[in-house]
Amino acid sequence: MARKRRVATTSKPKPRVDAPGRQRRSVAPQRGRRPKPLPKAPPPVELAGELPLRIGHGWDLHRLEPLAPDGAGRPMVIGGVRIADGQLKSGPVARSDGDVLLHAATDAILGALALPDIGELFPDTDARHEGADSSQFLREALRRAKVAGYVVGNMDATVICERPKIGPIKEQIRLNLARLLEVSPERVNVKGKTHERVDAVGDGRAIEAHAVVTLVLRERVGGQG
Ligand SMILES: [Zn+2]
Repeated sequence: MARKRRVATTSKPKPRVDAPGRQRRSVAPQRGRRPKPLPKAPPPVELAGELPLRIGHGWDLHRLEPLAPDGAGRPMVIGGVRIADGQLKSGPVARSDGDVLLHAATDAILGALALPDIGELFPDTDARHEGADSSQFLREALRRAKVAGYVVGNMDATVICERPKIGPIKEQIRLNLARLLEVSPERVNVKGKTHERVDAVGDGRAIEAHAVVTLVLRERVGGQG
């Protein structure tokens, strides 16, 4: 609970007494004495919207489990693209659809704006996000960027997993990500990596993504994208 702020109400205002040897500014300076210069105004506080470029980084990881009904894994969705890989027997465990790339992209935008991250804005304990299409999180982050005066400059993203192979679906993911970010495709890059068969990602027990984004002041973009 917030504590009430104490307000001093009992003391009467004291009559102003000038310190000895000091001049009140309202009083004309004595002849031959130069008036004391007024203190310089502090530099203006830089508002968020005044920064021409902001950079954000997002990272996400999801545990992979066998697909239902054998496990809690959801069908694999990466960058809003549903992965049709018949050999894929596991999927991300998540409250939402578990789209690791869109989660990283959302956090990159929120991070660039110095806003709370995706877990704080859309907690996975919230039943309303059950099976949610993660593009709604990205759209909300983008809306907040626009409110602050920014649009996406470009995004560079990396998906790290053993399966599916990102190469064959990279272009589809890139185009969809560009559409969601409301920029032209040449401003978006998607890379696929494996984890060299080491650790959880390398064992196929997790999928990971990184995204780096630049946000540009709307005026500087000049309507492109
Ligand atoms: Zn996630």
